[in-house]
Amino acid sequence: MDFELSERSEAWRDKLQAFFDREVLPRHRSWLEHVAGKGETAPFMGELQQKARAAGLWNLGLPELADNEPGTRLSNLEYAPLAEIMGRLFWAPEVFNCQAPDVPNMIALQNSATPEQKARWLQPLLEAKTRSAFGMTEPDVASSDATNVATRMVRDGDEYVITGRKWFITGAAHPQCSFLIVMGVTDADGDRTRRHSCIIVPMDTPGVRLVRRLRWMGCEDHVAPIGEIALDNVRVPAANLLGAEGEGFKVAQIRLGPARIHHCMRSIGLCELLIELMMVRSSERSAFGRTVIEYDTIQRWIAEARVELEQARLLAYRCAWRLDQAGHHDAWRDVSLIKVAVPAMLQRIADRAMQVFGAMGGSDDTPIHQALAWGRLLRIGDGPDEVHLRQIFRMERMPTWSIANSPYLSARPS
Ligand SMILES: Cc1cc2nc3c(=O)[nH]c(=O)nc-3n(C[C@H](O)[C@H](O)[C@H](O)COP(=O)(O)OP(=O)(O)OC[C@H]3O[C@@H](n4cnc5c(N)ncnc54)[C@H](O)[C@@H]3O)c2cc1C
Repeated sequence: MDFELSERSEAWRDKLQAFFDREVLPRHRSWLEHVAGKGETAPFMGELQQKARAAGLWNLGLPELADNEPGTRLSNLEYAPLAEIMGRLFWAPEVFNCQAPDVPNMIALQNSATPEQKARWLQPLLEAKTRSAFGMTEPDVASSDATNVATRMVRDGDEYVITGRKWFITGAAHPQCSFLIVMGVTDADGDRTRRHSCIIVPMDTPGVRLVRRLRWMGCEDHVAPIGEIALDNVRVPAANLLGAEGEGFKVAQIRLGPARIHHCMRSIGLCELLIELMMVRSSERSAFGRTVIEYDTIQRWIAEARVELEQARLLAYRCAWRLDQAGHHDAWRDVSLIKVAVPAMLQRIADRAMQVFGAMGGSDDTPIHQALAWGRLLRIGDGPDEVHLRQIFRMERMPTWSIANSPYLSARPS
């Protein structure tokens, strides 16, 4: 295992960093004013995307990008340091067409779509001409157990008729979202893991209704607004089925590994920013005769954040490396490890940063409260901590010795 970044990765990281410093960061205040402030589209996004694409900084999170697809193919490990840079601003991934949930959806389409489906749905996503969403979670069932998903998908001739309700669907409330990948039940009597299928549902199909836009801890997701969606007798062609009937879990799992690790990579970049914010703020304020950064407590918080962050980064790199080497089947444990470790770290570091900033830390003047909410969200979204911890526990091996005969313990006197 070698975690030195390859020359290629370093070159792309430096290129992305320079682009970020020159083109993206200087527009952040304008983005805040237009998008976060007024709910408008960023006036510069199209132009920025064109520039990024021309520089090859496009579709970077797709290790299986085909030669005829636009963008630069990077391995997961090569992508990790680039995703970190993007993670410093919530909207930056969109500039490079690297935003969730579109990238995981692209990966699902790359793996499971027919050539016709790819031409109709994947190609426009790769070109950033449309947006997408993935609909699994439902209000009426505990969706952390995906086998509970109850939306009905009944075959009727060469169509499926879909009825159900989905909520907390990231991106579904985006005005450009043109399709959902919906998970539903096609064989209610089948084996628990073969009951479900995934199907592409165009948003403009009669019976698809955006019920409401949802916020999370008071925060709006401006990049991929979250929606609740009602599906009432929605008829879509059977040709929209993604993968075979009964393969719903397979399709979902293919996209979940990358979805989780990409969130973690970006969150690590966000933690770097939080450390910088703590350093600068605490060195600029004085209380009780000293600059705040001179207090042991503050130094300890910053140092502890650094310790946690470096551990998390190595774990993320190992996870990325495993995904590259062995594919998502063999990286499953690493994905769960990182999925638990990083959101908890982000929450802790954001909490400390908020404390260092005092009242300002919870205001809209800083991104800290959003970082805190984001860390909290990631402990639930894409599977709650408890489910991942259960998986991790299940992969622990029971030692072959007992307490009475353990070679590691002293012998008890007879
Ligand atoms: C902002 C946001 C965006 C989201 N985006 C999407 C999206 O784009 N698409 C989508 O389909 N979903 C999305 N989700 C939904 C998310 O994936 C689900 O909320 C998550 O899977 C949990 O499902 P649930 O809410 O039904 O909770 P439940 O399944 O009801 O679980 C509630 C709690 O039960 C406990 N629990 C569950 N299982 C176990 C266990 N095995 N052991 C111990 N405790 C357990 C946990 O504490 C868990 O948090 C999003 C959620 C949020 C908050």
